[in-house]
Amino acid sequence: RDITLGTQQPISPSPGVNRKAHSMQTVVIIGGDAAGMSAASKIKRERKEADVIVYERGEHISFSACGMPYWIGGTIESDEDLLVLTPEVARNKRGIDVRMRHEVTAINRADKTVEVRNLDTGEPSTQVYDKLVIATGASAVRPPIPGMDLPGVFTLRALSDSQRMYAYMAETTPQAAVVIGGGYIGVEMAEALIDRGLEVHIVEMLPQIMPNFDADMVDEVTDHLREKGVQLHLGVGSNGVSKLDGRLAVGLGDTKEAIVADLVLVSVGVRPNSQLAADAGLALGRSKAILVDDHMHTTDPDIYAAGDCVEHHHIVLDEDVWIPLAPSANKGGRIVGENISGSDTAFPGILGTAVVKVFDYTMSVTGLTERAAVASGKYGSEGEFVGSAAISAYDKAHYWPGAEKIKAKLVIDKRDGRILGAQLVGKAGVNKRIDIVATAITAGLTVDQLALLDLSYAPPYSPVYDPVQVCAGVVMKQVM
Ligand code: FAD
Repeated sequence: RDITLGTQQPISPSPGVNRKAHSMQTVVIIGGDAAGMSAASKIKRERKEADVIVYERGEHISFSACGMPYWIGGTIESDEDLLVLTPEVARNKRGIDVRMRHEVTAINRADKTVEVRNLDTGEPSTQVYDKLVIATGASAVRPPIPGMDLPGVFTLRALSDSQRMYAYMAETTPQAAVVIGGGYIGVEMAEALIDRGLEVHIVEMLPQIMPNFDADMVDEVTDHLREKGVQLHLGVGSNGVSKLDGRLAVGLGDTKEAIVADLVLVSVGVRPNSQLAADAGLALGRSKAILVDDHMHTTDPDIYAAGDCVEHHHIVLDEDVWIPLAPSANKGGRIVGENISGSDTAFPGILGTAVVKVFDYTMSVTGLTERAAVASGKYGSEGEFVGSAAISAYDKAHYWPGAEKIKAKLVIDKRDGRILGAQLVGKAGVNKRIDIVATAITAGLTVDQLALLDLSYAPPYSPVYDPVQVCAGVVMKQVM
């Protein structure tokens, strides 16, 4: 895959920047979470002599955002458990010059400098780089509806967001919560808030929860959420939040109807933090995330980017897409670090493989859903070459105590049997089975090869034909 490297527009260094004082190996990294710190750590491991400076505008580096719902829900005892690395450990043990509460406000490619503001003192400064890494991640979307700044209305992205929410809950003991948005963070948080004893509502504009799954794969989990006490309002958006007798009223659709609650979590999606890159003239992709080549170069050869702020190459679609998830952020950051240290490592691409816990259920997905495959237009103009089948099968031998049914769906290209994607939903044995399909897709296996893969079998662990293989057999029979 080729993107044109080099500058897009002629740039010339402005006079007056003193470049003498800096070392020839100054790597500046913008953003100190998964991607930024993976890059920083890798460079310092490979090239001890490099000066690695990380600017982080927030209050933490390297934290597990993915663990935040479980801290709020009480499964994880302390927020400190979510910290992978502190600034002190990064500085003292890894030799990384971490500068907290420092925001990079501009990139001057001609001078190879960045403009920085100390958020505590307001003091501006300029820093020279030899190589720059943009790892600015993504931000939670705040929809343009009234009331988003009211006390008690939260978004969840940084660890400090969850700390604010946690403190608010401790101070005010809310009785009821509304989660606006039924994607994976909304659903995980609904469970966390039920675990904390609240009345919980999810308001989702689309007619289904978990919109990155096909509609026929979410029915059981939708019922399960209701069984667990989550009140679902599907196919209706919120028109805003207002104060009502010391509580919050979340308006629904174009009606006067409202849900009264004490806490509102807005989880309607994220957007890439790519403005800094765009302002510096770096190319963005269709999603407005930063365009990188397979070595994570941006359109400037001295500037790399990784993590939730970039598009990745999708292995099935063979095009760049924006699917912001932790594994690609960590790997992308590490690959940037390797390449800056002199290696020649390519990022292999993504499938958007993901897994989510929803109370007693696990939902997992890899590659394309049927809806995404049809919408891509790559498998017939009407999606006529998209084939799929869904089955239900036991996760262990049917007679094994506690055996549970898994619902599995495979999506294939009918013309050649190539596997395009899979979704698995069930109470057990779901998370690693999706990885079988992710591996099969990456290896370019067809559905008949998947059906005959030599997978393990013993009654306590799986049936003699794994559910994934049962599904492969059914797809072949039904659609090929
Ligand atoms: P970020 O984590 O967004 O970090 C970017 C950093 O850059 C931030 O700390 C930000 O303050 C800093 N920054 C931005 N701009 C500047 C600037 N101009 N100057 C200085 N600093 C700047 N993914 C999964 O795969 N599985 C999960 O189960 C999962 N669960 C999640 C649950 C929640 C509640 C959330 C919020 C996310 C979850 N994710 C999950 C997503 C995962 O957390 C992200 O994919 C990952 O954090 C991306 O890492 P990153 O370093 O690219 O970006």
